[in-house]
Amino acid sequence: MKDLIIIGAGPAGLSAAIYGLRAGLDLLLLEKLSPGGKVMNTSEIENYPGFVDPIEGWELMSAMEGQAKRLGVTIGSGEVKTIEKKSGDNTFVLPMTDGTNHETRTVIAATGSNLRTLDIPGEKDLTGKGVSYCGTCDGAFFKEKTIAVIGGGNSALEESIFLTRFSSKVYLIHRRDEFRGDKILQERIFANDAIEPIYNTIPVSINGEGKVVSLSVKNKKTDEVRDIELDGVFIYVGDTPNTGYLPAEVLNARGEVIVDMKMKSSVPGIYAAGDLRSESIRQIVTAAADGATAAMSAYDYIADLGG
Ligand code: NAP
Repeated sequence: MKDLIIIGAGPAGLSAAIYGLRAGLDLLLLEKLSPGGKVMNTSEIENYPGFVDPIEGWELMSAMEGQAKRLGVTIGSGEVKTIEKKSGDNTFVLPMTDGTNHETRTVIAATGSNLRTLDIPGEKDLTGKGVSYCGTCDGAFFKEKTIAVIGGGNSALEESIFLTRFSSKVYLIHRRDEFRGDKILQERIFANDAIEPIYNTIPVSINGEGKVVSLSVKNKKTDEVRDIELDGVFIYVGDTPNTGYLPAEVLNARGEVIVDMKMKSSVPGIYAAGDLRSESIRQIVTAAADGATAAMSAYDYIADLGG
């Protein structure tokens, strides 16, 4: 049986593992896919302290993974189905989708969030054929091409700027008349001739047979629908917390884990860290900080149990 199982190897999970291990906990870090989390899809990060110049998402996350492994963290592969409390015992059982079980005294949920989709005609069929959710992965396929980026948050703004390295024209389509993303990014958008913001507009369908040829959009003020000819559509419309395996009693109506300042959920021994928790500002630095806090809370809990 482990002292601590951390679920998810993004910045929150890797940081929790580093702090937990250095506190002497016998821990396992479980990851469903490969370590790194959503940051792997981010082009350039310039607000994570410690780097004078912007750093690529994959580079930052490989360094965090390398650091955890150097300290001795074991990263196991697998998907947790549920978290079950053993009756009369301060132990959790984690049944995995492959039929195995893990046992642990504490759990840190650090599974982040999944990218939201638009759910409009053409989106699903044309994913990978011109529709993408990752500029870093797919931007280079759109050299000298015309694309649209959907959304008005930091992700949409950052990725629009990044994609102008490849694409000659980027329509930035937002459903309101004002972007949600940081002012510094907005200023860069307005100064970039390759980006054309289109406001008060929602996508209604992505069109093409086997590849994207156009995007139909509707102006919310006039109800006018028009087609924009283009080669690719990048979608950045936010995300939803990945918490389906957690007990309902720890979640709020949005599916986020409700935690206190110590990252404690309402179930003793279960903690949450990063984008999946309530009140998170969803930054890499705050996810890493949450991970450290959660690991220290798990340590204190185990110490109180007498172990
Ligand atoms: P976000 O901040 O939730 O923004 C999502 C955007 O998509 C919003 O502008 C929203 O419009 C729009 N949207 C949502 N549903 C839509 C729909 N069905 N159709 C059209 N538009 C839709 O998501 P995000 O940009 O992915 O960022 C997530 C979090 O990570 C944020 O807290 C963000 O600050 C953080 N982040 C930070 C950085 C950074 O600091 N450099 C980089 C990336 C992300 P409305 O504005 O009208 O709601």
